[in-house]
Amino acid sequence: MYRLILIVGLLVVAYFLLRSAIREFRGRKDQTLTDKNLMVQDPVCRMYVPRESAVAASIGGQTYYFCSRDCADTFQKQLSS
Ligand SMILES: [Zn+2]
Repeated sequence: MYRLILIVGLLVVAYFLLRSAIREFRGRKDQTLTDKNLMVQDPVCRMYVPRESAVAASIGGQTYYFCSRDCADTFQKQLSS
């Protein structure tokens, strides 16, 4: 009888550990989808940069993200030419 209680107790502990591990995993997955960590592609040099540190430029009502000011200027020149 005591052994049964012990096994049930261990199963409950294992269940809670597993559940919190899954929750933590999901939390991390969600974090990568937040705006801060979102990767954006530079349309000029095709490089991927984190949106947080990218150079944002609003051109023609649309926001574009660049790795540097140089790429943003190049893009604007390309559009105007
Ligand atoms: Zn670039």
